[in-house]
Parts: sequence; structure tokens; C-alpha cells
Amino acid sequence: MRRPFIAGNWKMNLAARDAVRLAQEIRERIGSVPDRDVAVCPTFVSVSAVAAALEDSPIGVGGQDCSQWDDGAYTGDISASILRSASAKFVILGHSERRHVMGETDEVVRAKMGKAREAGLKPILCVGETLEERKSGNTLAVVERQLRKGLEGLTSEDLAETTVAYEPVWAIGTGEVATPEQAQEVHAAIRGWLKDLGGPVGEDIRIQYGGSVKPDNVGGLAAMPDIDGALVGGAALKADSFSAIVGFGTA
Ligand code: PEP
Repeated sequence: MRRPFIAGNWKMNLAARDAVRLAQEIRERIGSVPDRDVAVCPTFVSVSAVAAALEDSPIGVGGQDCSQWDDGAYTGDISASILRSASAKFVILGHSERRHVMGETDEVVRAKMGKAREAGLKPILCVGETLEERKSGNTLAVVERQLRKGLEGLTSEDLAETTVAYEPVWAIGTGEVATPEQAQEVHAAIRGWLKDLGGPVGEDIRIQYGGSVKPDNVGGLAAMPDIDGALVGGAALKADSFSAIVGFGTA
């Protein structure tokens, strides 16, 4: 039985003081969450302060990216080990905004996955097709390529610490959510590829859905057999909506 995992991606929002305030509000609202895992991913500059605000709480902290290189002469970059030293446990990698706005390739995402695991971070590998790719019938081919490339060379120990987030690009920040059936179709395919890659470990890897998840649609999505939680953008920026999403099915 896979434990649901809900993570908030705060993207490039919130000054450090506001990030800490949001973390404290989320902590107060969520209280204890015995049967699910929760994380928030602030900007790099707020990771330490948010981790301190969430110390001894069940909510973990993650980064939104890390470097493909080790510490060294890479001005402006943040290595996986520096992120880990700031108390991050997780790191989102291959988010569609990084792939499509910053031009990250599958190879770069793969290199970052390796660095994240070497540093002891638990990666959340994002995969997902654009609207054009969906319309041309290429959804599964694109997702399979991103998934296999992103996980290439990882050991089964690494895979056990990895989460996959299926995030159709056309659903991110648009208000247009995939139907539970549309999402499940891709999640089931991802599950098959994960089992192909990792054997029995593939059954235990959590697959989050991401793309306009809100309190009123998370229940239907999470009821699907291969949807194991959510990666939440816009609705993670408010304590009430994020805690309602975290609490799906418990009210
Ligand atoms: C995201 O950024 O990963 C995301 C899913 O955003 P939103 O929930 O706003 O669509």
C-alpha cells in the first residue's frame, strides 16, 4: 500500500518572511498527518528558514531544482549537497517550467537526478506532455522518454527514494485539470515502465498528479489506483487550500 504524498511547489513566490509565515500557517492547520507524507518547496533562499519553522513537524522541505554539477565554479547555481545542507529532504527535478522555459534537456535532468541521489535528496521527477504532443497522440511516447531518461542509471535503492510527478503541461497553472481517467491512463503506463525498470520497487514508487489540483478535484484524482498524491502549484500558496488538499478523504 503506497502512502499518499502531497507536495507544494511555491515556485518563484514569497519573500523569506512570507514563506516562513505560510509554513507556520500550514503547520498549524495540518497538525498531524499519520497516513500521508507532506512537503513544501520554497525558493532556495527560504529553504533553511522554512525548514527551521517546520522542525519537528511531519512536513518536509524540498528545493525546486538543483545543479547538474558538484560544488565549484558555477556562478548562480545551487548544488544538491548545498541544498541538502540547508535541510532540504526533497528536490523537484525536470519541472515543465524548467524544461520549456529554461530549456532543460532530458540529459540535464538525468544528471541532476544523479547529483540529487548522491547528496541524499529524494527527487520528485516531473514528466508530462504539452498540448501539442497530446493532440498529436504522442503523450505516452513523450512521458516514457522523459521517465526512462530521467531514471537512467539509478539503482533500485535510488528508485525507492524517488517520486514521479505526472504533470501534463497543458494543465499546469491553467485551471484545466486532467480528468481522473485521463490522468490514470498515463499513471498506469508509468507504473508499468517503473516495474519494467525497477522490478518490485516499481510497485512502491509514488506517482503524484500535478496540474491545477484544488481541494474540490483532489479526491477524484486520488481515488484512482495509480495516483498516489499530488504536486500542487497555485493552491499550495494558501494555507487553507493546501491543507484542504492534504486532508483529502479525511473530512
Ligand atoms: C506545478 O507547478 O507543479 C503545478 C502543478 O502548478 P498548478 O497546481 O498551479 O497547476
